[in-house]
Amino acid sequence: MTSRSSPYGQRWKNARVQFLTVNYRCVMCLASGVSTWLSPDSPNAIVDHKTPHKLKAAIDSGDPVRITEAQRLFWDRKNWQALCKRCHDSTKQRLEKSGEFGCDASGVPLSGAHHWR
Ligand SMILES: [Zn+2]
Repeated sequence: MTSRSSPYGQRWKNARVQFLTVNYRCVMCLASGVSTWLSPDSPNAIVDHKTPHKLKAAIDSGDPVRITEAQRLFWDRKNWQALCKRCHDSTKQRLEKSGEFGCDASGVPLSGAHHWR
């Protein structure tokens, strides 16, 4: 509905539903021994990117190399995990505290989130 604010569109919506149909439990809840069932229809079901793709930032930067890399991360299903909203939000908050988010213009390698702390 807001194609301007979302570069992902219908293709992502379809892929998300497909993924959640197979991966229908929150992996973080599962890791702590809890089964949280996710319905693709529910806003509680999140397909999270383990490595942040930062596609929007890449597109905003106009750098074709960054855009290609962000798109690769975005569509790489090995980089996806099913999360409930609660786990997703708590993960995000932790990453924000570590400085992982909001510094993407500096080009700091994603896997080296801690090396400059
Ligand atoms: Zn969860």
